[in-house]
Amino acid sequence: MTAAALTEHLRRISALDRVAGLLNWDQETQMPRRGAAQRAEEAGALAAARHALLVDPRLPELCDAAEGAGPDARGAVDIAEARRLHARAVRVPERLAAAVAEATATAHGVWEAAKAAGRFADFAPALGRVVALRREEAACIADAGAPPYDALVEEHEPGVTGAQIAAMFDELRPGLVALRARIGASGRAAPRLRGDFPTERQIALSRRIGDVFGYDWDAGRLDLAVHPSCTGRLGDVRITTRINEANPLECVYSTIHELGHALYEQGLDPEAALTSVGGAASMGVHESQSRLMENQIGRGRAFAEWLYPAMRDAFGEIGVAGPEELYAAVNAVETGFIRTEADEVHYNLHVMMRFELERAVIGGDLSVADLEGAWNERFERDFGRAVPDARLGVLQDVHWAVGAFGYFPTYTLGNVYAAELDAALRADAPGLDAALARGDVSPVLAWLRRRVHRRGREVAPAAIIAEATGCEARPATLIAALERKFGALYALG
Ligand code: ZN
Repeated sequence: MTAAALTEHLRRISALDRVAGLLNWDQETQMPRRGAAQRAEEAGALAAARHALLVDPRLPELCDAAEGAGPDARGAVDIAEARRLHARAVRVPERLAAAVAEATATAHGVWEAAKAAGRFADFAPALGRVVALRREEAACIADAGAPPYDALVEEHEPGVTGAQIAAMFDELRPGLVALRARIGASGRAAPRLRGDFPTERQIALSRRIGDVFGYDWDAGRLDLAVHPSCTGRLGDVRITTRINEANPLECVYSTIHELGHALYEQGLDPEAALTSVGGAASMGVHESQSRLMENQIGRGRAFAEWLYPAMRDAFGEIGVAGPEELYAAVNAVETGFIRTEADEVHYNLHVMMRFELERAVIGGDLSVADLEGAWNERFERDFGRAVPDARLGVLQDVHWAVGAFGYFPTYTLGNVYAAELDAALRADAPGLDAALARGDVSPVLAWLRRRVHRRGREVAPAAIIAEATGCEARPATLIAALERKFGALYALG
């Protein structure tokens, strides 16, 4: 046995992950409605096959052999990751792994129908089953005495606990709440876009944006979906975006966000990306890539110089007078119900609320039956508005339907990382704004490729960011950047 046998085993697991991703993509974009029941069975079979590879008793032997061969630093990461995944998987019975996959595939369809009807009660039984199974799974995986929720966070953000996330959120919240209050008291309202924004022109603009950001169309494609997402790796990285004909900015920023994810996957080290060490570091790091492109670059003042004429080319009159007004419009701060439409000031407050609710659900402190009430009460407390409809409340996000508990906090972690990356990037590239104003995003991509994308999982997620920026990621960096940006936009004293 050689190290190559371990690499081959890891590649097979990674291949099954990509197949699962393709099934998800298909479900979001192509699958006929009546395919849902079969798809649940297919997802279950695939999950069982993956689980079998992970619990394979030969896997620790392959690790021992690879270790004996004297691995280099990257080989050592593959070995450690294989041991971690094996240790997690052997704690979960195969029947449970398959049941989770089937329950989440079923719940996805039930959630879609319940959301269309605006009735949480229609979704509650399917969600209850997902929660029960995920809690059972988390209890199997968690170390003795550790909270089950941490085992779920670990799937998305290795090495981070619920308590650490709660501490980071406690640090962020006061600055966000204070900034929101100052913006509210300013009495200023951002300009709004007006015009005619047909679907096909929004798609054409999205393609142009893909070109500008450096997306490789020979290694990807763009489709429409209710929930924009990015799927795949390296030579096949697909994104979806969404269209609202009343507001083209939803499409523009969904596209840029997913491009940020896609550029990361397209930019991984081709030599290692299909095993373990070359893959994306974590969901928090992934989100830092999408949020940096979306907010620091795409919603920045310089990029408006390119975006304004591009939008005029696409739509004609858009109701704002020039780049400066467009910049104000794309950064409008408003208290909305929907997380994915939230501005940079409100966004993390949405995430904090979901984090606390899901942590309570998985911890057994909040029942699924009480979730809608808890959501509505919490929303009114945090945002000062009553939720009129479950579509605008507890049913808005797909995450819980697909069992992705522990995922939400990685969004805010990504925002904190993105602010730190942006500060370091600008210190390294003084002429960046002039390039962005011309629609040249290549300096950003080149910097990220070198410092983040190519590194894969060489070190822990937080260390990837720290080594890229020269310091630990600090919530204070994000707060300071938001105070500068929105202080100027809203003329706060
Ligand atoms: Zn994202």
